[in-house]
Amino acid sequence: MNATAETELLMLPGPVPVAPRILRALSKPMINHRGPEFKQLLDSVLEKLQPVFRTENDVLVLSGSGTCAMEAAIGNIGRGKTYASVENGKFGERLKTLGSLYGRSVPVVTDWGASIDLAAVVAALDSGADAITLIHNETSTGMTNNVEKIGTLCRKYDALLIMDGVSSIGGMEAEIDKWGVDIAFTGSQKCLGMPPGLSMITVSERAWDLIRDAQKRPYYADLVAHKKSADKGQTPYTPTLPLFFALEEALKMLEEEGLDTRITRHSIYAEAIRAASRAMGLELFPQVNELSTYSDTVTAIKMPSGIKFATLSEEMRRRGVIIAGGQERLKGTIFRISNMGHVSKGDLLQTVEKLELVLLENGVVNEKGAGTLTADCALEEL
Ligand code: PLP
Repeated sequence: MNATAETELLMLPGPVPVAPRILRALSKPMINHRGPEFKQLLDSVLEKLQPVFRTENDVLVLSGSGTCAMEAAIGNIGRGKTYASVENGKFGERLKTLGSLYGRSVPVVTDWGASIDLAAVVAALDSGADAITLIHNETSTGMTNNVEKIGTLCRKYDALLIMDGVSSIGGMEAEIDKWGVDIAFTGSQKCLGMPPGLSMITVSERAWDLIRDAQKRPYYADLVAHKKSADKGQTPYTPTLPLFFALEEALKMLEEEGLDTRITRHSIYAEAIRAASRAMGLELFPQVNELSTYSDTVTAIKMPSGIKFATLSEEMRRRGVIIAGGQERLKGTIFRISNMGHVSKGDLLQTVEKLELVLLENGVVNEKGAGTLTADCALEEL
């Protein structure tokens, strides 16, 4: 079968399949972004976002993808700060780059796919780092870092904790207040199941103190300006209105499903992919230990010998399923399957079934059906 964009199943870690309800919301007529209708919409989404972040702190919405929030987080804290930049994947590296752009970065690097080096984090704090930057769910490696442990350390050293929750918030356990996270953010095209283009960011009181005192803040992503406008039911610059309509609908859907139910659904989906992979003799990529777990939103699998990623992805695409490869240095060594967005049990099963078929046809596995059967059993829990 030759799939088209209309029928393709996007099992990518963003963009993800978007529910028809959300797609319909995108086509609503425009409204006055300085009028009462927009104020009502913004007030309502900001209120609904707090429990999604599990925070009592302010949440703001930025017209810009996840990287916009990454830059806002670091750019607003101020120049001259020292960031202990935890990197064990591509997005940790991006925060490190931003740290050195706006301040000074002390890299706390491990191999991509390996767990955080806690001793190196302590050493960075001992040497006077003002803040730690860290990815909760490293989408590039399929690994979830233990943020709670880092949060405890930050409190001990009175350092700020900046957490990227782009592929976790709204779909995995992410306890912003309980873990002592000062700034956290997510993107629209991941667990919220929306199109790309919006990011949401939360800021603690002690982070606000630093931000207000900062000598220079970015212009477009100035969080003080965003907060001032949000208090009036507005955004400082023209908001991407269709995406705000979509956000309203996505949050309604999340409320209907329930955050806990969504988190459980994601964990069952991801476990089904992991179990099926093992049943097919495939190896998961992340090296997990007590400081990490396998991600429940994206699974990274080592490329088995006998097939190249280009062949695997093309043969999957021909069967209507789009999967992701490894990024940068992980190109060709892993492939990734996401379960975020409007993905049903049937979609998941279909993905595993087609993966198994392609691997069988290419002589990578020789037992027919073990992966699909395993995924089917795992999904029965739902
Ligand atoms: N952080 C993480 C963990 C991500 O997965 C991504 C995107 O995949 C980003 C940041 C960057 O987000 P965007 O591509 O929306 O700018």
